[in-house]
Amino acid sequence: MDFDTDVLICGAGAAGLTLALDLARRGVPFRLVERQDAPFHGSRGKGIQPRTLEVFEDLGIVDRAVALGGPYPPQRIHAADGSHADVPIAAAQAPTAAEPYGSPLMLPQYLTEQVMRERLLELGRRVEFGLTLTGLEQDADGVVVTLDGRGGATRVRARYVVGTDGGRSTVRRLLGIDFPGKTMHVRALVADVALTGLERDAWHRFNGDDMARRIEVCPLAGTDLFQIQAPVPPEGDVDLSAQALDAMIRDRTGRNDVHVESVSWASAYTMNARLADRYRAGRVFLAGDAAHTHPPTGGQGLNTSVQDAYNLGWKLAAVLAGAPADLLDSYEAERRPVAAAMLQLSTALLDAARRGGEMRRGREVRQLDLAYPDSPLSFALPARTHGIQPGERAPDAVVLGAGGQPTRLFTLFAGPHWTLLGRDVAPGVADALRRPGLRVHLFGPRGDAIDAHGHVQAAYGLQPGELVLVRPDGYVGAIVASAHADALDAYMRGAGLG
Ligand SMILES: Cc1cc2nc3c(=O)[nH]c(=O)nc-3n(C[C@H](O)[C@H](O)[C@H](O)COP(=O)(O)OP(=O)(O)OC[C@H]3O[C@@H](n4cnc5c(N)ncnc54)[C@H](O)[C@@H]3O)c2cc1C
Repeated sequence: MDFDTDVLICGAGAAGLTLALDLARRGVPFRLVERQDAPFHGSRGKGIQPRTLEVFEDLGIVDRAVALGGPYPPQRIHAADGSHADVPIAAAQAPTAAEPYGSPLMLPQYLTEQVMRERLLELGRRVEFGLTLTGLEQDADGVVVTLDGRGGATRVRARYVVGTDGGRSTVRRLLGIDFPGKTMHVRALVADVALTGLERDAWHRFNGDDMARRIEVCPLAGTDLFQIQAPVPPEGDVDLSAQALDAMIRDRTGRNDVHVESVSWASAYTMNARLADRYRAGRVFLAGDAAHTHPPTGGQGLNTSVQDAYNLGWKLAAVLAGAPADLLDSYEAERRPVAAAMLQLSTALLDAARRGGEMRRGREVRQLDLAYPDSPLSFALPARTHGIQPGERAPDAVVLGAGGQPTRLFTLFAGPHWTLLGRDVAPGVADALRRPGLRVHLFGPRGDAIDAHGHVQAAYGLQPGELVLVRPDGYVGAIVASAHADALDAYMRGAGLG
């Protein structure tokens, strides 16, 4: 049987759409199928963390995401006596040359996905709605999936399949991959509502220290709606009508002047903390909530899902183009530990919230310090005792082109290629390393880039003659002295840069 496509992506949420965007810009043939007949329209994950904004910049969607959304307002803690105090959710963090996005963006998930679909359309691709993956068989060369749609069942043969089909993943079940963890015994409702009586300049919190009666009402940036979040009893039906939510607000806030006019989307869900035993079985991968589910505290779920897909996309494209197949093993090696740490963080934040703790968030939720130091793709020769380490996020920097024009490292990194940066590297060394899929930028005498503000040196701490290889997903792959350029050549071949 011939192949119908190279990659079949199952599920068009944030993870599936990110993977589709990355494969589309690389020209990889794929299909993106989605069980629902129309786009999802709930707010769900509404916090886009700074590292995800950097990913969005590379995918060409950051400006329209920021234009649609807005900053997080302060939280307004309402006391029983009617007084209130405003507290920032996170300490304000101004952008820096190395970290251009200081603060998280608020953008309801349906708008994030809308922006992604718009970009996908610009790249000439679309989601195929109304197709449900119901079966999967694989052999050494490919995978045959069964898709059920209005026209009946069809069988599609792909070289690889990626299950981005959410927490109840069919792909994970069909692979027989375990999803151990725990149910948190916390059930909450989340509802997007039109509401009167509360200002839109703050995230309102009532009864923060009472787990049974707390309620939060947050203005949803980019819309006229508010998002209500409130714990509900672990068992039984939850009435999600406007009248019931109106009564709940009255009961929990003691206020008669706040009214729910209509409900645009609502859901009651039980929080889980689970991590798939494996992210891969043969030619089938799991990404996003299919591989891990977290409590929403800390706003990590969507961000982790986007970054899973961003990690996998370039590796799939490289192996399809002839790179050694073991490159794909690094996906689970890199991303599963990140999800395990995320699970601990969001669970700890949930426990703090249950004890009535403050909702203040620190640097740990921004995902800028995520790194892959133990990855098989992280390499230094000689070992580094200073400056940036292999596996770390490659920082941005404001630089000049040799013509004197201002630019940024992230502008030089943007796109599907790898980037090699060198400081005071002899032209012969750099020339021997040039190859398709690699862009070389040299700082120093006769270099094409100028570290006019010292940002590159501050962020990377390179010795004369050192070379830094930046992966397509913006992490440092290798740091090598010119004397070991042959080791860098071998590294690149192993990663599919022939
Ligand atoms: C109520 C709620 C509140 C949340 N709040 C937050 C928050 O505040 N912050 C945060 O970061 N995260 C939050 N999350 C988590 C966040 O929404 C998820 O982490 C994110 O949606 C994961 O993206 P995904 O693409 O992996 O999965 P999903 O968004 O779940 O997308 C999976 C897609 O696959 C489709 N699908 C499923 N099965 C099949 C099949 N067999 N065939 C074809 N298609 C299929 C589904 O229809 C769906 O569109 C919340 C989640 C929920 C449920």
